[in-house]
Amino acid sequence: MQQVRTRFAPSPTGFMHLGGLRSALYTYLYARKNDGAFVLRIEDTDQQRYVEGAVEAIYRSLRMAGLNWDEGPDVGGDYGPYIQSQRKDMYLPYAQELVKKGKAYYCFCTKERLDGLRAQYEARGETFKYDKHCAHLCADEVQTRLGAGEPYVIRQNVPDHSQADFDDVLFGHIAVDTDTLDDMILIKSDGMPTYNFANVVDDHTMGITHVMRGSEYLSSTPKYNLLYDAFGWQRPVYIHMSPIMADAHRKLSKRHGDPSFEDLLNQGYLKEAIVNYIALLGWSPGDDREFFTLDEMVQAFDLKGLSKSPAVFDPLKLRHFNFTYLQRMDVDAFEAAMLPWIADAIDTTRFDTRRLAELLQPRCEVFSELAPKLGFLSEMPDYDTALFANKRMKTDAVSALTVLDELMPLLAAVPVWSEDALHDAVTAYIAGQGCKNGYVLWPLRIALSGWENTPAGAFEIAGLLGRQETLSRLGRSAAKLRAAL
Ligand code: GLU
Repeated sequence: MQQVRTRFAPSPTGFMHLGGLRSALYTYLYARKNDGAFVLRIEDTDQQRYVEGAVEAIYRSLRMAGLNWDEGPDVGGDYGPYIQSQRKDMYLPYAQELVKKGKAYYCFCTKERLDGLRAQYEARGETFKYDKHCAHLCADEVQTRLGAGEPYVIRQNVPDHSQADFDDVLFGHIAVDTDTLDDMILIKSDGMPTYNFANVVDDHTMGITHVMRGSEYLSSTPKYNLLYDAFGWQRPVYIHMSPIMADAHRKLSKRHGDPSFEDLLNQGYLKEAIVNYIALLGWSPGDDREFFTLDEMVQAFDLKGLSKSPAVFDPLKLRHFNFTYLQRMDVDAFEAAMLPWIADAIDTTRFDTRRLAELLQPRCEVFSELAPKLGFLSEMPDYDTALFANKRMKTDAVSALTVLDELMPLLAAVPVWSEDALHDAVTAYIAGQGCKNGYVLWPLRIALSGWENTPAGAFEIAGLLGRQETLSRLGRSAAKLRAAL
């Protein structure tokens, strides 16, 4: 049996968007599932669309996602080079072979002639189609003009009144009338291949057995297959994949501000959660299972689970996935992963980051949201004493000041500074007062944090701040209250 060989063939025109990453993922999964090879090929024939740094972004994103390729630009392989611009001399002989077979021809039409032709089509409201003018030149004339160094392109000779077709695993049989197809250029006047031609030649010469790509290529594939047939090459299996949509009307796109894979990583999403979530946009394992490691996805992957209909990217669902992944981390791993995200907000050497991790993990959805919640720890913020008034807790500035004044000596006397000891001391005080917890805990937490909402309660905050800072903050808050009364 032939070894399965799939490829991901991105054009380096920008950052790795989620649709691209998902195509790469399915392509990778299919290769792995079938003990095949996953090939990375960079399609950079169109130098005008080339974006600086895009190739590196592709490598980075794929590696981050764990989609390691068996053959490709930087790892090598038997079918290299894997960057189209480095294969540029390969294509002309293939086009010449097609000319010999009558499946392609030299075209010497000038820009002026083509512009005129185009204008005629436009005037009739039709799409331009080359009129095969040069397909009818006799061999001698072609040789003479080539010999004279006249500029030329090579065009595909699409047969008239025929059908071009192919079978797609998802979309079934697709056929188009060849009269609707243009004799597309295979080799440009500078000797370089067009994108379409290089794509076909590369898939064949790299031994690709399964072409998996976005469904936007569905309409070009009949034309590509005419080339396979013209060469007498075996057609690959085609699997066109539905796009990821931002909403019912438009695809996800960087241009519209939709996040790329790296944007999401920079926002504090876990790569595993992103990959898991996007895997399910267009593929279903056939049961209700939602959470997969990459290896589990390989096991579960089946082309039958791919969907023809476009899936809509749901940022809330992604958050939910991320949340679930974060909750599944053990606290050590969470702490280690969290540290870089909070390092700018607090001096991580000053606080018990293990305890912080325990406190933050249960409600953390995305890492980037942690830092803004911690500012009060570094420095006591300036705040309005109106915060001490809380109807539900039945507190106001006067009651708060009394509580603080009475608590300070009690807390100062706690022998060992721990959350438990603080808890015991304050609970005893509350019992003695016969009041509700909130009557004491609300002013205590405000006096320690200056914030209405904090990611931890009064004892935890006091524990994190330590004895000295806690007593100092309480003293300052009491003074502030006194001054305000
Ligand atoms: N280079 C194409 C792109 O980035 C992919 C073409 C293909 O997979 O056949 O959209």
